[in-house]
Amino acid sequence: MNEIDFLTVSALLLPVAFLSGWWLARSKKSNSNRELNSSINPEYFKGLNYVLNEQPDKAIEVFVRMLEVDSETVETHLALGNLFRRRGEVDRAIRIHQNLIARPNLSQEQKALALLELALDYMRSGLLDRAEGLFKQLVELDKYSLQACRHLLDIYQQEKDWENAIFFAKKLEASSNGTFDPLIAQFYCELAEDHITQKEDKEAREKLRKALNKDPACVRASILEGTLLKKDGKLKSALKAYKRVEKQDVEYLPEVIESVLECYQKLEQPKAALEFLQHSQEKHSGTDSMLLLTELIIEQQGEEEGINYIAQQLRDRPTVRGVDRLLKYSLRNIQGEDRSRLKTIKELTESLLENRPAYKCQQCGFKAKQLHWQCPSCKNWTTLKPTAGVKSE
Ligand SMILES: [Zn+2]
Repeated sequence: MNEIDFLTVSALLLPVAFLSGWWLARSKKSNSNRELNSSINPEYFKGLNYVLNEQPDKAIEVFVRMLEVDSETVETHLALGNLFRRRGEVDRAIRIHQNLIARPNLSQEQKALALLELALDYMRSGLLDRAEGLFKQLVELDKYSLQACRHLLDIYQQEKDWENAIFFAKKLEASSNGTFDPLIAQFYCELAEDHITQKEDKEAREKLRKALNKDPACVRASILEGTLLKKDGKLKSALKAYKRVEKQDVEYLPEVIESVLECYQKLEQPKAALEFLQHSQEKHSGTDSMLLLTELIIEQQGEEEGINYIAQQLRDRPTVRGVDRLLKYSLRNIQGEDRSRLKTIKELTESLLENRPAYKCQQCGFKAKQLHWQCPSCKNWTTLKPTAGVKSE
């Protein structure tokens, strides 16, 4: 039996399992075969037969009809609905759960469970508005509240409704052990970016303050704050914000290097810029700061000094980007056949760099050319980091 057949048969046997459970429960109640026979509704076997013969719609019809006369079959319906959803037959799951909810004789607990299942059906079929309504109802009823809040948080992130996402993240934080602070900080950053797009800088700064209050290690808030301050010409404060990144998460240091240099350039402090780059090299040893430092050395001390520096650095830590830059400098001073040979090698390094992913998700391995604060693949936050290594840099 191949894997697919096995899965199909297992899926089909599940209802058999729970129906036999129901059958056994019934049989325990009865003392004689006669009582047993009279207690099993023959409709059940009819329904079961339809399930086994892959006629799910007919099976649903039978089970729904039974529900009207026998409220003890609620569990069976919940299990059947669940089975359909897991098999991807969400429309059928919805029909079963909607029918359950419409029954007036359900207990509070049963109704809540049916609501939860229906909400999960809606989530699965992408009907987020309907799922949202049901999850909210569960929170109000105080039934399956934690589960409902988790799903609501998920829905609001998908809908980019950050205010509501913050509300439910805070609610979850209050009722569970985990911390949601770094996540809430990201939501405040999302709001800040929206304000920046709308040119509402004051509101954006307020949201960034909230982000940093929630999570003092929020790199994104520091970068956004630095960018706003730099734009307003408050260069010293901008530098302060950018430089926070080193302590918050040194892996993101390459993200701010160019902005820091721009501030120093505007402040006309070339010596401070050089010191900053040397310091970043010690802390991170990334190719970005090494290349910028080379440029600065060329500018301040001449080309030969710069080439010596980059060659020395590449001996210690070779990277494709570094070699590519060294070739670029070398090509300036070389002629004849040697030049055409070097040019061929340069073409090779360029093609190696062309499809280089600059960022990689530490969680799922998703690769991207630009930084995403939420991974487009696994949806985790701040898991994409600048790549490192010979080929990646
Ligand atoms: Zn990921």
